[in-house]
This record gives sequence, C-alpha cells and structure tokens, in this order.
Amino acid sequence: MSRTHLARLSAAALLLTGCWIASTQTQAPPPKLTTSKVKEDLYMIVGGGGNVAVYVTNEGVILVDDKYDQNHDDIVTQVKTVTDRPIKYILSTHYHADHSGGNAKFLPTAEIISTANARANIVNHTQSNAPAGVAGARVTFTDESAVFLGGKEVRARYFGRGHTNGDAIIYFPALRTIHTGDMMAGTTPLIDYPGGGSVVEWTKTLDAAMKLDFDTVIPGHGAVTDKAGLLAYRNNVEKLRTRASGLIHEGKSQEDVGKVMTAEFGWVPDSLQMQWSVPGMMKELK
Ligand SMILES: [Zn+2]
Repeated sequence: MSRTHLARLSAAALLLTGCWIASTQTQAPPPKLTTSKVKEDLYMIVGGGGNVAVYVTNEGVILVDDKYDQNHDDIVTQVKTVTDRPIKYILSTHYHADHSGGNAKFLPTAEIISTANARANIVNHTQSNAPAGVAGARVTFTDESAVFLGGKEVRARYFGRGHTNGDAIIYFPALRTIHTGDMMAGTTPLIDYPGGGSVVEWTKTLDAAMKLDFDTVIPGHGAVTDKAGLLAYRNNVEKLRTRASGLIHEGKSQEDVGKVMTAEFGWVPDSLQMQWSVPGMMKELK
C-alpha cells in the first residue's frame, strides 16, 4: 500500500470513526468547535459533525446545517464570536445526524428548511446509527427554495440522488460559493443506499451542480476548496464506480470488492462505507 493510500485511509478512518463514535457515545464531551472566515460575511464552523456555514446579514444569521445535538450550545457560542444577530434560518443539506442533529434545539427559535426526502428520512428513522430525537425541518421543498434576509439571498437546490435521495446544494450567489453537504465529504464518497443514495446518479448530480456560477466550495467534511477541487472529487467518484462495476461484472464477491475499495480508495474495514455502500453497489452496478 502506497503512502498516498495510507494517508487517505487514515483520513477516512478519522472522519468515519469520528462520526460513528460521536453518534453512538453521546455521553462523551463534545469536541470544541472553531470558526474561520470563508468570504465577506460568510464563516465556517468546524469540529464535531459536518461543516456549518454561517452567513451574517443585518437582519439575522442563516446557517447551513447544525451538526449533532450535543454541538448546539457551542454553535451558538461560535456564531456570537462573529455577530450578535440571532440565528433565523437553517438550510439543511441532508438528514444525517452529524448535519441535522441540532435541529430539535434550534427549531423553537429558527426556521429549518430541507428537501422533502431529507425530512422523510428523519421521520422514518432511516439512519440506523442515529441518536434518538433528531427532528425534521418544518419547511420542505422538492426542487428549489431560497431565503431572503437583510438584502441577501441563499438558494437551496435539489439536483438529484448521490449521498442520499435528498441532498441539497446550498448556493450563496453573491459570494459565488456553494455548500455541498456530503455530496463532497472527505476524500471518497459514502453512498447511503438505505437512505436512497446512488453512485450512478452521484456524478450526474454533481455535473448539474457544477453549472452554478461559483469559485468556492464548502464541503460537508474537510477543508474549503474550489471548483477544480470539486471536479477532482467528482472524477474520483467516477473512477471508483468504474472500478467497482468492473469487479462486479467479473463476478467478484462483496468481500473482494470491499478489499479493493480499501486498498485503492481508502475505505476502512467495518466502516459505514463497507456497511452501506458496498452491498448497495453490488446491486446497483450488477
Ligand atoms: Zn452524510
């Protein structure tokens, strides 16, 4: 195994075990969050679950995602380091508890907006390892929604399946920036087949999102990148799909496909990628 593969493997291991541990051992103290500036009036909060975007307007704050339930108080503290305006809206990228887990605590004071499918997946407890009590959005959309606040605009678009069947891409047109949710997260895709994900649709969905006018990308997990970074991620999804499809058509077993995903794409044994993505690919790509 090359050093690149090892580095990828350990990065993926950190990401996935981090999510797993945080969602199954809620008694552990939540990790300290940190805030950094992305562009004018746009910040990102990292630590704990998925990346949270913070868009400051003079009438209030718009968040993208709200991490786990246990991160709520620190998210509020972090937002206060950049503005004293209240959090008014949360645009939710998808139903996973590391992105929507804070919904229940924010709902009394903020409006949460997600795709209809993301809400349905929360209501139906689709995520097998989610902690209890994750709340769905009060407002949903199927193709497109937008929030206008303090003279600023944020759009939420559903371009199709990929990570799940309800991933919203959040677009800040004035800043030429998008938040991808987990349609880009870490180094390789987690395809949540139980939640309606698809490795076949994933690249088509990203191709549609790439038509937006943007130069900056906040991924669901990992560092801020640019359009070329998102394109490289998309091309790696295609490479992974082509490899898996070839193996499946050669008649390789699920276990063998999993081993190649580990060796060549850094998928960690016993991870959610192995549990959710490999069995799903065996069916979708056969
Ligand atoms: Zn996710």
